[in-house]
Amino acid sequence: AGKIVTIGEILVEIMATTTGNGFLEPQPLVGPFPSGAPAIFIDQVGKLGHPAAIVSAVGDDDFGTLNLERLRRDGVDVSAVAVHAGAATGSAFVRYRPDGGRAFVYNMRDSAAGRIAATPEAEAVLAEAGHLHIMGSGLPVPAVADMILKTLPGLKARGGTVSFDPNIRREMLRDGSKAIFHTVLAATDLFLPSGEELSLFSGEGDEDKAVAGLLATGVREIVLKRGARGASHFSQEGRTDMPGFAVTEIDPTGAGDCFGATFLVARRFGKPVAEALRYANAAGAHTVTMQGPMEGSAGFIELDRFMAQTRSL
Ligand code: ATP
Repeated sequence: AGKIVTIGEILVEIMATTTGNGFLEPQPLVGPFPSGAPAIFIDQVGKLGHPAAIVSAVGDDDFGTLNLERLRRDGVDVSAVAVHAGAATGSAFVRYRPDGGRAFVYNMRDSAAGRIAATPEAEAVLAEAGHLHIMGSGLPVPAVADMILKTLPGLKARGGTVSFDPNIRREMLRDGSKAIFHTVLAATDLFLPSGEELSLFSGEGDEDKAVAGLLATGVREIVLKRGARGASHFSQEGRTDMPGFAVTEIDPTGAGDCFGATFLVARRFGKPVAEALRYANAAGAHTVTMQGPMEGSAGFIELDRFMAQTRSL
């Protein structure tokens, strides 16, 4: 049924080791770890043994090589990742605030990730996609939005499907990006919001009403991610709630992306909704137990073992 393809940033993540003054004082750092929401997502797709490809760009440097080697190792087609001589691979520096929240220093716009473009290799990969996963964080980049808009009609015409993880902050919906977010939502089969994103996109604070509204506009499945509490699935057939797994959270980055990839792949491999949710919760929980956004990605055998050994909440 064709590859799962995504478009967007590949980064490295480097982490502070103290919560006190963050990056305002010298300290040992951990990393670099392969990162970038689309990269984390597609790496997990590859780990699960589903054909996968990413359209992206890295610099001709160690950070780019680190990412390309990881993605290749996990089975991801990286033929549409351009290697730029004149720009460094994107990076994100993250620190944890004393309250547990995260703060980022991003180098993305001026990095190779800001130069993602419609190369012949990208067009070839997109022309063959069976499923497109759209990441909201990439939509404000005009070249990315353009590629997505050009891909959607042909993909839909050949029976392909679309998933959408908004992955956004409120500010992104205020400016000129709002229209593209709604165009994408109109083409979405599987919507993967978390937190306030459900109400942001439906304009409705009440969860049941928000879900009903989105299903009425043609979204076929909605999976609401609820952090440690697990997730809920909604479709015209009804609602399924699945509790999360009880783990000690070391690093929350990447949970949502691993979750989404796992739900999608499990469904494409024919698993029923409840089982796909269980696998997806396991993948999200497994990810947060490891330091580094992509270090907790896991195949089905590893997830089976994890589920057998871990209590649900
Ligand atoms: P992120 O932006 O950090 O990648 P998200 O906001 O998109 O994540 P979350 O709801 O935080 O999504 O996490 C996705 C899924 O991962 C959850 O639905 C759950 O299955 C799992 N998960 C996340 N955090 C935990 C946790 N602390 N314990 C157990 N499972 C977790």
